[in-house]
Amino acid sequence: MGETTKRIRSSGGSATVIAVDGPKLIALADGYLDMDLSRFPDVVRGVGDDLAIVDGQDLNDMTISVNAFLIEDGGRLCLVDAGDGSRRGASLGHLRRAINAAGYDPEDVTDILMTHLHGDHAAGLVEAGKALYPEAQLHVSEAEQQFWRDPSRHDAIQATQTPFALAAMAAYADRLTTIRPGEEALPGIAVEALPGHTPGQVGFRLGADNPVLISADAIHLPALQIKHPEWGFLFDADRAKALETRLALMASAAKSGIRLAGAHIPYPGAIRVLERETGLDYERADD
Ligand SMILES: [Zn+2]
Repeated sequence: MGETTKRIRSSGGSATVIAVDGPKLIALADGYLDMDLSRFPDVVRGVGDDLAIVDGQDLNDMTISVNAFLIEDGGRLCLVDAGDGSRRGASLGHLRRAINAAGYDPEDVTDILMTHLHGDHAAGLVEAGKALYPEAQLHVSEAEQQFWRDPSRHDAIQATQTPFALAAMAAYADRLTTIRPGEEALPGIAVEALPGHTPGQVGFRLGADNPVLISADAIHLPALQIKHPEWGFLFDADRAKALETRLALMASAAKSGIRLAGAHIPYPGAIRVLERETGLDYERADD
């Protein structure tokens, strides 16, 4: 596979506008994570081998994007997720540069909406125990806060993420806002429950006529999971629940036409789910 394989390194630090009616939505590239099929433990081995090259990448030696999003609306500048921070070297941790590339200053971020508190979303909130966004209000769902504050609910894999979640909530303790599905996090930004990857994972829906749902980690890799939604991700806290959420999300996205913008969908992360005679499919959809 060597010569046909192209490891895709989404260039950390870039920014791309995603067309939405109303607010301004911008995808930000924090960088990329190295990845292989062992991260999808439910992949049936033989079938997985048939799918070894997807989207130009060898699934046994590939990268996935780490994206965050910026929403400018009504005088507010909202960051959705904060990237992986500087803990893992040069492939990640370029979010603040991406905010600059979008034409803004990280100091001007007024609100940070968290989809969930895994390290690749929350570690970038904090540096040496201090909040990196000194003026921003941090919005985290009630169920997510409760999950991370109760270590008896963390298996060995989730426990690797606990320090990032707790550090984030501690550094922003004096400006931590609790949000709930079915309500608006901020005017025009609706909170939707996407449980499974973590118990309190939420998405954020915005835009009137041409809406987008920032869908967090409900789908990691559309090239695999649109056709095989049953192939869960290693870090899904509850793989059965994550599958239920993924199926419902894909069905409603195909039916309604709402675009999805994911944290790990190839940068800039926006897709449209399509219903074809052969089953569900997807296309890039940032405009
Ligand atoms: Zn993630």
